[in-house]
Amino acid sequence: MIIDDLAELLSKFPGIGPRQSRRFVYFLLRQNRNYVEQLARSILELKKETAICTECHQFFPDTVSKKLCRICSNSARDRSTLMVVEKDVDLENVERTGVYNGVYFVLGGTVPLTNEEPEKFIRLNDLLARTKNGTEKDSLSEIILATNATTEGDHTADYLHSKLALFATNENVKITHLGRGLSTGTELEYSDKETLRSALSNRK
Ligand SMILES: [Zn+2]
Repeated sequence: MIIDDLAELLSKFPGIGPRQSRRFVYFLLRQNRNYVEQLARSILELKKETAICTECHQFFPDTVSKKLCRICSNSARDRSTLMVVEKDVDLENVERTGVYNGVYFVLGGTVPLTNEEPEKFIRLNDLLARTKNGTEKDSLSEIILATNATTEGDHTADYLHSKLALFATNENVKITHLGRGLSTGTELEYSDKETLRSALSNRK
């Protein structure tokens, strides 16, 4: 029935289990028609009105099929520094704090500890292509591996480091990691301005 079907769809959301997804369905049933219709419309339009930036691979609002997000198309950004983050929300949070003026690359995930098919979980080939052929390739001097301070985040940074090492040596590009003044387990998504500023200035 419809309640089960919708609950099943919602249970696929990150961090949402079957019990929570049923609570969402009953919440929707209690809302007025306007709210539910607006929600349904927004979901339909979400895919239509967003695109993935061809340079940093973040999702961005796009109704005129531009290729670049507002960060990658901004000539005032410092193209000598490329920050590699796990997810769109990490990029959003760093932007919100305003402490970083370089450019980004969104991996889209982390490498599993088993190391099985890493390229299925992160945009490794796009990252390699970006560092080698991106618009900043001539000015690129540093890649900051800003994965989260979690076991998988650290593992992903190590993996990327090994994949980028040869390129970095040949092109004289520094590979750095965010400083860890913070307790283990801290995620970029939740870091405040001061924490990020200190993590950036203590990168090595
Ligand atoms: Zn971009």
